Amino acid sequence: MSEGAEEDLAERKMRFLFALRSKGVTDARTLHAMEGIDRGQFVRGIFADRAYEDMPLPIACGQTISQPSVVGLMTQAADVGSRDTVLEIGTGSGYQAAILSQLARRVYTVDRHRRLVREAEGVFTALRLTNIVAISGDGSHGLPDQAPFDRIIVTAAAEDPPGPLLAQLKIGGIMVLPVGQSDTVQSLIRVRRLETGFDYEELRPVRFVPLVEGVAND
Ligand code: SAH
Repeated sequence: MSEGAEEDLAERKMRFLFALRSKGVTDARTLHAMEGIDRGQFVRGIFADRAYEDMPLPIACGQTISQPSVVGLMTQAADVGSRDTVLEIGTGSGYQAAILSQLARRVYTVDRHRRLVREAEGVFTALRLTNIVAISGDGSHGLPDQAPFDRIIVTAAAEDPPGPLLAQLKIGGIMVLPVGQSDTVQSLIRVRRLETGFDYEELRPVRFVPLVEGVAND
């Protein structure tokens, strides 16, 4: 690579982190994790050169890799600790799971498209992210065998928080997810499980692809 090209990359990374901060991603651990994971590894084809822009981009199976600032805001809202076991529903490109893997002890990530799980696993292996387990299946049922979880992040929108996911959250645990109809603006919410029940907090408007029941055939 020429010196100029290297400078370009460094500059793009600086701009990327600056954009995150200006959109409210201020938590140092989250920023550090996002600095360490190259989004360019998770975007293929004609959109690859837009990987450092703060926008969602198309990935395989008609899905999208989320906007980096939204990934950052969800990650910081989840307040992941280094001993936590995290469940992510909606692997997609694997980008969010990769960032969570920098903060947590172990990350389970589930997608209904087998192809996306396979491709994300390829990137995890290439980046030597060994604490991620990617599973294909319907994530709206969670992962009863691995439950309960310290943190749950859902990256597809349901009308309400799925009951099985609430049930698989530890007491003291946090779940961050978008809720609302898929064709309108949804709300990003944070759910805390207390001894006595659940506490819900609305964070900001977002737009995600829908959480779809059942597994896909690709
Ligand atoms: N977190 C991803 C973006 C996710 S896009 C990233 O960082 O790139 C939303 C994903 O949710 C899609 O890949 C879609 O296939 C998946 N999804 C939708 N409904 C699902 C369900 N019931 N179970 C598991 N995955 C689901």
